[in-house]
Amino acid sequence: MHRLQSMLVASPVILADGAMGTMLFDAGLPAGEAPQIWNVTHPERVRAIHRAYLDAGCQVILTNTFGGNRFRLARHGLQARVFELNRAGASILKAAVDEAGGAAFAAGDIGPSGELFKPLGNLLFAEAVDAFAEQAGGLLDGGVDLIWIETMSDLQEVQAAVEGVRRVSADVPVFASMTFEKHGRTMMGVAPEQACKAVLSWSVSAFGGNCGTGPIELLKVIRTLHELAPSLPLIYKPNAGLPVLVDGKATYDGTPASMAQSAVAAAAAGARIVGGCCGSTPDHLRAMRGELAGKRG
Ligand SMILES: [Zn+2]
Repeated sequence: MHRLQSMLVASPVILADGAMGTMLFDAGLPAGEAPQIWNVTHPERVRAIHRAYLDAGCQVILTNTFGGNRFRLARHGLQARVFELNRAGASILKAAVDEAGGAAFAAGDIGPSGELFKPLGNLLFAEAVDAFAEQAGGLLDGGVDLIWIETMSDLQEVQAAVEGVRRVSADVPVFASMTFEKHGRTMMGVAPEQACKAVLSWSVSAFGGNCGTGPIELLKVIRTLHELAPSLPLIYKPNAGLPVLVDGKATYDGTPASMAQSAVAAAAAGARIVGGCCGSTPDHLRAMRGELAGKRG
């Protein structure tokens, strides 16, 4: 059994990490620059963010490769460097995990292509599979333990990403999470029921939600998913509440204490992999770990 599968069997809840983008901007990433380029230009800053999450007790950490597919990198003229930037991101994380004792898992982050499928846009399914396979190739070459497909709105794109990963590796564990909006569906109209039915027929080790409108909305999605598929490991990785503008800068209104309470509620509702998305920092994750441990103890 893969080490991750053993941990899913043994642990009631696994703590994932928090935001990468929020932390990169705090570390000086200029607006408009591709975050993935920092995997080669500022590896020490990316590594420091991973280390902060490891120190907070996070057990699954995502690479800085969210927008590391050829479509999104093309907006920065970096489309020829997909493999290199993903491989570098994976290597940085792998080294940080090893340095922290090797107990945590390095997850290769795959975000949306940023394109719409035909007929709404120009993307063909086969092109999407190719692009995700290319990205996954770099991530796996850099040594990630699993692939985490996140922030998806279109079920077809999740499928393309899973197929892309499977083209490169038949057995690497794959997590997938979609972004559900206020009305409980994704931007592309996918309901949790529909998503659940589809992913159960694909080879994913965990499924759930990330990003979106905050903890309370995602909790409802977790309850629905748990009822439909009680044995499917569920992912709960909400934003730290809603963005509010403070001095022209987007900050999130979810405090570490409120995120910690929501983590406990999510675990009680059946979530097995719990973390934070936009606006969540190592402080939020440390509070979540403390509260989850308290409720277990
Ligand atoms: Zn987010």
